[in-house]
Amino acid sequence: MPHSPYILECCRGVKPSGCTRAVALPGDFAEELAALLARTPPPGAYAALGREPRHHERFRVSLCACPNGCARPHVADLGLVAAVDVRVEAAACTGCGACLAACPDGAVVRTDGVAAIDAARCLGCGHCLAACPAGAMAAGPTLIRALLGGRLGRRPRLGVELRERLAPRSALNLAGRCLRACADGLRPGLRFGDIVFPAGKPGLPAWVWP
Ligand code: SF4
Ligand code: SF4
Ligand code: SF4
Repeated sequence: MPHSPYILECCRGVKPSGCTRAVALPGDFAEELAALLARTPPPGAYAALGREPRHHERFRVSLCACPNGCARPHVADLGLVAAVDVRVEAAACTGCGACLAACPDGAVVRTDGVAAIDAARCLGCGHCLAACPAGAMAAGPTLIRALLGGRLGRRPRLGVELRERLAPRSALNLAGRCLRACADGLRPGLRFGDIVFPAGKPGLPAWVWP
C-alpha cells in the first residue's frame, strides 16, 4: 500500500480521548485538515522519478491542542498549535494574583492592583482562566499559532512562527497553500523549509499570506 507523502500527527488533546490541557478546537478542524492532506496530489517531482517520498522526505503537519507541543510542532514542516485568546475584565478583577501564579510563562502582570495579559509572552494555554476565582478572565475565540519549516534529520531547524495568530479557517487555508507548494516544489534533497525559506531570500514568499 502506498504511503501518503503528507503526514498529520495530532496530540492526544485533539483526539476524542482528550487531554485536560487541551484548548478547544472547532469540532471539525482536525478532520478538515486530514481531508486537505488526503486530497493533495503527491509531489510531481517524485511521481516523475517513479518513487514515493521516503519517510524523512514526507511533509509532516503537527497539530497540538496546547502550547506544550506534545506532537512536536516546532520540528514539523507545518506546526499548528491551538491558543485561547484570554482577556481580563478589569472591573471584575480583585487583584488576587491567582492568575499570575498559574501562568507558566510570566505573561500576566499586575498594574495598579489589576491583572493584565502581556500579549507578547502569552502562549494561549488558558491556565490563568481556570485559576481565576472571580470570573474576571474571559476566553475569546480559539486561534491557531502556525510554525513553518521545522524539521529534524541531517539539517535540523526549528519552525518559524508567524507573528499573527490565525482564525481556524485561515489556518486551514494556510495549510492548503503549504500543501500546494509541496505538491509543486518538493523534490529529493529539498524539504518544505527550503521552499518556504529559500536560501539567500529574506522573508517569507508571498503565497504564505492570503
Ligand atoms: S500538547 Fe497539550 S493538549 Fe496536546 S497532549 Fe500535550 S499537553 Fe495535552
Ligand atoms: S493563557 Fe497561558 S500563557 Fe497566556 S497569560 Fe494565561 S496562563 Fe499565561
Ligand atoms: S485571578 Fe482573576 S481576580 Fe485574581 S488577579 Fe487574576 S484576573 Fe484578577
